[in-house]
Amino acid sequence: MADLQARHPGESEYLQAVQEVLESVEDVYNQHPEFEEARIVERMVEPDRIFTFKVTWIDDEGQVQVNTGYRVQFNSAIGPYKGGIRFHRAVTPSMLKFLGFEQTFKNALTTLPMGGAKGGSDFDPKGKSDGEIMRFCQAFMTELWQCIGPDQDIPAGDVGCGGREIGYMYGMYKKLAREYNTGVLTGKGLTWGGSILRPEATGFGALYFTHHLLQKAGREIKGQRIAVSGFGNVAWGACIKATELGAKVVAISGPDGVCEIPEGITREMIDYMLVMRASNRDRVEDMADKFPGAARFTAGKKAWSVACDIALPCAFQNELSEDDARELVANGCWCCCEVSNMGCQPGAIHFFQHNGILFAPGKAVNAGGVATSGLEMTQNAEHISWDAAEVDSKLHFIMKSIHEQCVKYGTQPDGSVDYVKGANIAGFMKVAHAMLEQGII
Ligand code: GLU
Repeated sequence: MADLQARHPGESEYLQAVQEVLESVEDVYNQHPEFEEARIVERMVEPDRIFTFKVTWIDDEGQVQVNTGYRVQFNSAIGPYKGGIRFHRAVTPSMLKFLGFEQTFKNALTTLPMGGAKGGSDFDPKGKSDGEIMRFCQAFMTELWQCIGPDQDIPAGDVGCGGREIGYMYGMYKKLAREYNTGVLTGKGLTWGGSILRPEATGFGALYFTHHLLQKAGREIKGQRIAVSGFGNVAWGACIKATELGAKVVAISGPDGVCEIPEGITREMIDYMLVMRASNRDRVEDMADKFPGAARFTAGKKAWSVACDIALPCAFQNELSEDDARELVANGCWCCCEVSNMGCQPGAIHFFQHNGILFAPGKAVNAGGVATSGLEMTQNAEHISWDAAEVDSKLHFIMKSIHEQCVKYGTQPDGSVDYVKGANIAGFMKVAHAMLEQGII
């Protein structure tokens, strides 16, 4: 860690993600001298390569805008590079390196052959028109297309990048590359190679994982009050499945504050989340304006201020602090499944773990999204499409298997499961063995 800190000063998210993994795998690593001999850790924490490029586009006022675009190809030990594209004003190389590092372990957990990558830009979609989004995505792809391919690197969506953006990017990709293989991107539209249930998959998968975690602990989802943060694609899928499984989603949130929903979110409200997201206003207060009786908005508050049994962070990294964890637990919360990537700060995780709160990390809980991207790639390669029941059963099987891997590597002497350790060790062992077998490269 000291060596990494010296070489990457100030890259706090990246260093945080690496530190969490190294702490978890230390004991196992020390039992394998062959890992040390091949310098597996030193090689695993460093991305294979990073592309950085200028993105120039013209806004609706005719003004020239300049952003920076990136693609971090992190690790290809178990398959071609795979991971999303994030469009957010705070995107930096540190953020994308942390996400690419996490993705490597997450993808290893899915049981599918995918390496780790992440990309994005400091472009801010907030307030942008559809035309601006299209012109930006096209400009972004004029550089990215040379770095990707269906057997090399397969981007998908992430924060600020959904089906619409993937569509605009694919359109420009095929024009430039003169390649018509839709398998180069995932999260596509249903009529041109997209997989059914891909939009729902991250949220559905998270709830399947939560179901297995609760079952192992002798509890069930039905009847629980769930606080969800965010109102984007991941939060949307989580709300649908949580409600379907009989839980009550009592809060959703946004950068402007929280909407408390004492009677639980309804299907109509869940549908409205899509309208809110498409508006690019980034305001959760719109929900309370639309459903004034059912949703109560409080400005400046997080979802964690609402009393709940289960907390599901579904928005952004480090969105749940130690103070938030304390407030949650004081209000009766006994389980937190991290759905966003690295959604909880280290202090929050330690607080949960030291207080007997069930906790599972994002790389296990949210892997259903990329797993279903993997299923989309399989359907594209076979030139077929499966129906919802088939995709859903495969997704459920994968989430069950991720839970089993966590239990295998994370069971403690007292019988409890440390899901952070379990997920990190399971992912690490798979990637480490693949790297070992492929020699020093
Ligand atoms: N951005 C998602 C993630 O964090 C999905 C990536 C993908 O489907 O490739 O896992």
